[in-house]
Amino acid sequence: MIQVKNLTKKYDNSLILDDANFAFPNKGLVCLLGASGSGKSTLLNILAGFDSDYSGDITVCGTSISKMNEDELCAYRRDNIGFIFQNYHLLSGYTVLENIMLHCELNSLDEQSNVENAKELLNRIGIAEKASEKIENLSGGQKQRVAIARALISNPSIILADEPTGALDRRNSTEIITLLKEISKDRLVIVITHDQKICDFADDVISIENAKIVAKDANIQKENDSVQNLKTKPTIKVSAFKRGLKNFKVHFTRYAAVSLAISIGVFCFMLSLSSGNIMQQSIADFKEKNTAYNNGYIKAEDDKAVFELLNADERIENVYRQYKINNVSLSMGDNSKTMIEKYPMPKTTESMSYGTMPKKEANEIALTPSLAKKFASNISNLVGKEITLKYGDQSYKLIVSGIYNAGYDDFFVSSDVEQGFYTDIKDEQVYSISYDVKNFEDIVSVSQMLSEKEIDSKNAASEVGALQSTFKSLSRLFLTVSSMILAIGLFISAVLLVKLQNSRYKELGLLSALGFKKSTIQRILISENVLLSAMAAIFNAVLIGGAYLIGMIFDFAISVSPLQIFVSIVSTGFAVVIISIFASHKLINTEPAVALRK
Ligand code: ADP
Ligand code: MG
Repeated sequence: MIQVKNLTKKYDNSLILDDANFAFPNKGLVCLLGASGSGKSTLLNILAGFDSDYSGDITVCGTSISKMNEDELCAYRRDNIGFIFQNYHLLSGYTVLENIMLHCELNSLDEQSNVENAKELLNRIGIAEKASEKIENLSGGQKQRVAIARALISNPSIILADEPTGALDRRNSTEIITLLKEISKDRLVIVITHDQKICDFADDVISIENAKIVAKDANIQKENDSVQNLKTKPTIKVSAFKRGLKNFKVHFTRYAAVSLAISIGVFCFMLSLSSGNIMQQSIADFKEKNTAYNNGYIKAEDDKAVFELLNADERIENVYRQYKINNVSLSMGDNSKTMIEKYPMPKTTESMSYGTMPKKEANEIALTPSLAKKFASNISNLVGKEITLKYGDQSYKLIVSGIYNAGYDDFFVSSDVEQGFYTDIKDEQVYSISYDVKNFEDIVSVSQMLSEKEIDSKNAASEVGALQSTFKSLSRLFLTVSSMILAIGLFISAVLLVKLQNSRYKELGLLSALGFKKSTIQRILISENVLLSAMAAIFNAVLIGGAYLIGMIFDFAISVSPLQIFVSIVSTGFAVVIISIFASHKLINTEPAVALRK
């Protein structure tokens, strides 16, 4: 069945097998003895096609496996080899039946026939009643029976068993070897063992001595190879996603913990961005309410120097001189009021009872309560109404924008209307200067500049400054805390993922031993990672939804744009992909034989 010709195997400088030759029979139980470290597992791995780094030739049923590439060796294992390990290598979290059926994903039979075959096998090895039991609930002897059933399900012509009884007590060892003896009636079973008692069951006993394969039994039976051919079955496309999904379910708790850690981290980070949005929103609200927020007023004795200073400053616009005016009259319906004198006053420092200050270029007017009472008994009703202002030979139709709290008769009009009043005034005494700051962010610094020059300006710098500093320190705090949570979340999930992947070397080694191609195993891992990132993204979306809900219930505005939500969800998924690539990179690139040893 198997011909080993001139086999030489080295690890670095140590020679494990040196020009070894041997012909294995077509069937029967062959025990492989040898001191620990003599190369028994190495030989078995070579026969199984796990290791092709050797010189010499191995032919199986007349076909050389030495020149086969990785995928051909996978197919060779799938169709011809059943592997049994000392530590069973069964998948925890899966049932007995599912473990046995693992190999069936590679064959072309339908699900029903595969289940029937598996049940028949379980019957034969005497654990039929355990079919739906989870692997972790079985005893060692039962586990090894399941492993034997798994090796037999594809009906291979060669069974390779690496110390299958090494972890079992005497009674279980005897039962297992009896089982192996029985199945060796119609196939070749090679068993590595230290146990002399087991050799009693063997048809042939061989050992590795001085890097050579030596027959302990002179009557070793060698049969003609021409009887059999190497089996090759059609390649079946394995649904990597189905297997990935199944694995994902089995490892669900850990994956959920990973997803939760990451999504909480990203969620917190996003909330901290939302604090920035809240600040923008508050500033917008502030501007909306305080329409004169950027206006400044300077009582001017020496107007020329101040006027030039303001005009030269790039942060400042709309600078004009203000004068006392006489005989302004306001009328609405039958009511009218004439003011003999009207002085320019600071706008920003007034507080509003109703509405807002007049906006620029809006033809608006704001009144004091005492003046407003001349036109309506309920002064709040005046907001939005039209009032006619007459000054000189000009008449303006203005809309009342608000009522502000001053204790005398007075009003403010939109700045362009006000400037119209002054067009004919040339040589009168300047009363004050009005200016606007272009940008909200410059209001405080302009005010500072003026006070450094000992110019007394009335403006909204203190309110604006307070608003800015509150939000600045708040958002800094938010960002710090949430960055820490994000870092911790990423760290926890990376640790969990790496630990999870480390526990899976044997699982992947096993899939490879069963004949799953490396590319299929990679696709399984990728499917799992995709599912994991999808779960993290969903968790993140749920957290955002929950936050909105809580915000709605407790009337606390979570201010995040749809784009930020999208970015948050996508970046959660992306973070998981990056971490899992990092965590499974080594796993994917480990050779199956090495993976099995881990
Ligand atoms: P055993 O007969 O106990 O099964 P092995 O075949 O596992 O022995 O190993 C034979 C020798 O080769 C041992 O000395 C072992 O340390 C060494 N060896 C096994 N695998 C590797 C490897 N991947 N790299 C280097 N040395 C190895
Ligand atoms: Mg070994």
